[in-house]
Amino acid sequence: MKKPSFDVIFMELAQNLALRSHCTRAQVGCVLTKDTRIISIGYNGPPAGTHNCDDEFGEDGCPRDSKGSCSLALHAEQNAILYASKNGVSVEGSTIYVTLSPCISCARIIFSMKIKKVIFLNSYAAYKGLASDEGVDFLRKFGVEVVSYSEL
Ligand SMILES: [Zn+2]
Ligand SMILES: [Zn+2]
Repeated sequence: MKKPSFDVIFMELAQNLALRSHCTRAQVGCVLTKDTRIISIGYNGPPAGTHNCDDEFGEDGCPRDSKGSCSLALHAEQNAILYASKNGVSVEGSTIYVTLSPCISCARIIFSMKIKKVIFLNSYAAYKGLASDEGVDFLRKFGVEVVSYSEL
């Protein structure tokens, strides 16, 4: 039997984590890894201990920001990076697997935290109907490797 690659294992985990999101607008999961080990995980949602979008705003969906996204949620990448930082785990040099390519604000954080590689499943631009993937463009411009999972 063929053994699954770590790329497959980590992206499948990210997809499973996305299913845990309570947000009514989008479900995104991510896994932060270093040397084939998991250092953090995350999915999108309001900060832990506040509320769940689907419980609080089940009927109308969560409040939107100017781009039509949930205005309360931390993004999956932010949750994973913050959790690592809170626990004193360095994310420098790590690889992040994420089910949706990073938005521009997550891209800025990923770059600042010196994460070296991003592997994404779906395109944020395609999901949002935007002309370009500005987060991906930003990361590539400043030397972070960004790879589409379908091209691995
Ligand atoms: Zn929400
Ligand atoms: Zn984001």
